[in-house]
Amino acid sequence: MRKHLILVGGGHAHMMTLENIGKFVEKGFKVTVIGPSFYHYYSGMGPGMLGGTYSPDDIRFATKEVVQKQGGIFVRDKAVRIDPEKKEVYTESGHAFSYDVLSFNAGSYVPMQPDLEKSGTVYSVKPIEKLMEASEKLKALFAERKIRVDIVGGGPSSAEVAGNVWQLAKKMKRHKPDIRIFAGKKFMARFPESIRSRVFFHLSKRGIQIIETGYVKDVKPDRIILDSGEGFSTDFIFMALGVKPSAIFEASGLPIGPDKGLLVNQYLQSVKYPEIFGGGDCIYFKDQALDKVGVYAVRQNPVLLHNLMAALEGKSLEPFDPGPEYLLIFNLGGGIGVLKKKQIVFGGKIAFMIKDYIDVKFMKKFQAIEKS
Ligand SMILES: Cc1cc2nc3c(=O)[nH]c(=O)nc-3n(C[C@H](O)[C@H](O)[C@H](O)COP(=O)(O)OP(=O)(O)OC[C@H]3O[C@@H](n4cnc5c(N)ncnc54)[C@H](O)[C@@H]3O)c2cc1C
Repeated sequence: MRKHLILVGGGHAHMMTLENIGKFVEKGFKVTVIGPSFYHYYSGMGPGMLGGTYSPDDIRFATKEVVQKQGGIFVRDKAVRIDPEKKEVYTESGHAFSYDVLSFNAGSYVPMQPDLEKSGTVYSVKPIEKLMEASEKLKALFAERKIRVDIVGGGPSSAEVAGNVWQLAKKMKRHKPDIRIFAGKKFMARFPESIRSRVFFHLSKRGIQIIETGYVKDVKPDRIILDSGEGFSTDFIFMALGVKPSAIFEASGLPIGPDKGLLVNQYLQSVKYPEIFGGGDCIYFKDQALDKVGVYAVRQNPVLLHNLMAALEGKSLEPFDPGPEYLLIFNLGGGIGVLKKKQIVFGGKIAFMIKDYIDVKFMKKFQAIEKS
């Protein structure tokens, strides 16, 4: 029987493995990719798509097509649990798949009450497909009347979403919304003042209100309530309250880190089950807690590609080195960005142009696989 490699999720850390599925197949291995969508959306360009800078086609990678044309199998489904002893993956639709080697790149999600998800006025900032839906809905609302758009959460995704909602409304040239960010006690609290003040400046200049008087206690489809009991009526809400790794690992009884991500060693390999690997937002890297940013997922690509092949062939594994401090650029809409690399911090059009250049180049590189 052919050895079977299963990839759960075709996210940013699996890009090089997806690109090389043909090589696994040539060597006699069976490869199956399980994912809820035929496409994978590049989150770094998600806010830009919300604001209309990019179309959905610009920021997506055709996972199914890339897998199938190289002789792999694509299963449109969601993995919900695995049995690491039986070496089986179970999916939402009730199917079971046996594996010899398994790799997770199932990302992270914004925890949200199910009734809010169904409300039609409350959207999480992940998965990126939700921003696509929100963009269409907002366009219709901006054409109709003046509305209030609120963002719950005070981190970078909140700033990017607020700035790009503003851009979307500006492009529409119809009713301008009132935009508010509910940022807890301090907006962008985990960033140095040099970044915080620049993001604050660019958003406030456009009339975006940043509320730092307390944490949000409750969210209803048309109302936001703070810890203090103060309530704010609203028309549209984005939930941008920090992400959590996929819930699969806890549900499967696998060793997990403090954030409940799959606990992996320096080889991006489960600390208990040597045939299980993972990358991106869904793992907890044992040697050093990593920020939940796409940069690390991208850096993990060559190591995962090597180690998955090595695990199938019984060869030695390569360690992952998280590397130097990464370049950070926020897209605040209106062609404005804020950039930080080591001691260098600046905001303005050049910062956005650098982000746009890097992101578009990244997407073109991987979209080229679809055409090859
Ligand atoms: C609004 C926003 C803007 C951001 N901007 C940036 C940025 O500019 N730069 C940066 O470095 N980081 C950015 N981030 C962080 C970045 O999104 C994450 O770090 C990155 O997406 C992690 O990549 P990933 O592949 O691990 O996860 P994801 O991008 O979430 O991909 C996971 C994949 O797995 C699939 N999947 C999910 N659940 C399952 C399941 N149960 N079974 C099978 N498949 C599944 C999904 O469909 C998806 O294709 C941003 C985040 C947000 C929310």
